[in-house]
Amino acid sequence: MGGTKILAAAINSKDGIITRVKKETPPKKEKYIEAISGIVDDVIEKLHLNKSNVKAVCLGVPGSVNPLTGIIGLAPNLGLKNFNIGEKLSKVISYPVLIENDVNLGALGIKKFGVAKKAKNMIAVFIGTGIGGGIIINEKIYRGSNFVAGEIGHMVVEKDGPLCGCGNRGCIEAVASRTAIVRNIEYDIKKGKRSVLSDFVKNKERIKSKALSQAVKDKDAVAVKRLSEAAESIGIMLAGVSNLLNVDMIVLGGGVIEAMGGFMMPVIKKSFKKNVMKDAAKGLKFAASRLGDDAALYGGISLAEEFLNIKV
Ligand SMILES: [Zn+2]
Repeated sequence: MGGTKILAAAINSKDGIITRVKKETPPKKEKYIEAISGIVDDVIEKLHLNKSNVKAVCLGVPGSVNPLTGIIGLAPNLGLKNFNIGEKLSKVISYPVLIENDVNLGALGIKKFGVAKKAKNMIAVFIGTGIGGGIIINEKIYRGSNFVAGEIGHMVVEKDGPLCGCGNRGCIEAVASRTAIVRNIEYDIKKGKRSVLSDFVKNKERIKSKALSQAVKDKDAVAVKRLSEAAESIGIMLAGVSNLLNVDMIVLGGGVIEAMGGFMMPVIKKSFKKNVMKDAAKGLKFAASRLGDDAALYGGISLAEEFLNIKV
C-alpha cells in the first residue's frame, strides 16, 4: 500500500505472481481498512480461489511497522501514526494478517526470489522519489530496536544541507533522490544554464525519470552533472554502510536505477570504491534488482514463512 495506489497480488513460491489487482488509495484514512479488505476479496474472486487455500494476507506499508503487534509507528505518506492496522484488519479479514515495512519486504523479496539468492548479508537500496533501504543479516531481515532499521535515506551526508521530508537537513534522500536531482536541475536551468530539459521548467512540467534518462542519452551537461553528483553521494553513503555492516552484496533498485542504472551504477561503484575500507569491500557484489515493484510482493512469502512457519 502506497500513498497513491494499492497493489495486490496472489502469490506463491511455486508459480510466483498469479494475478494482480490495482486500486487507488482512498483519500480519507477512515476508508483504508475497507479498501484493503476489498482488494483482498477482489484478488480471491478474480481467481475463484478456494478460501481454504489462502494461507495469509501480507501488507507492506511505507513507514515504521512492528510486525509482532501490527502497529504502524509512523507512515507519513498515509497520514498514520501509532495506528494498530493489524488488529483492525484482523476483524474484517478471515486469514492471518501480517504487516511489514514495504522496503523490508522488497529486500526480503530480492533475497529470496531475486538477484540476492546467494547473499548471506545484504543491503537493498531503493532510489526513487525518496531513498529507502532494507538490511539482511545472516539471511534474515534486521529490524532494529524500534523497527526503524534500514532508514538509509535519512543518513546525513551533508552538514546544513537541503531540508529533508523528515525535518533534518542533508539526508541522502534530500541530496540524491529523484526529487532532489530534479530540484537541482531546475535550479541550474533557472540560473540560465542550457539544457534539453529547459522546456519542462518553462512549461512548469514535472521532470520524470524517462525525461531524465533521455537527457543523459543526449549527454545533457546539466543532467549529467547533477546525476553524477547524486551517484557520488550514494557511493559515499554505501561505503559508510559497508564499513559498518561488511555485507557481501548491495542491490540497488527503484525508479531512478530502473531508468538510469546504466549511467548511475558505474559512478556509484567508483565513488564507493574510493571511500570504502578495502577489507569491507572484499568480495562484495553490486547488482541492480530486476524485480521492480514486485520485490515487495515476493517479500510477502518470506514474511508468511517467518511468522506463520509455513511454506506457501
Ligand atoms: Zn531525512
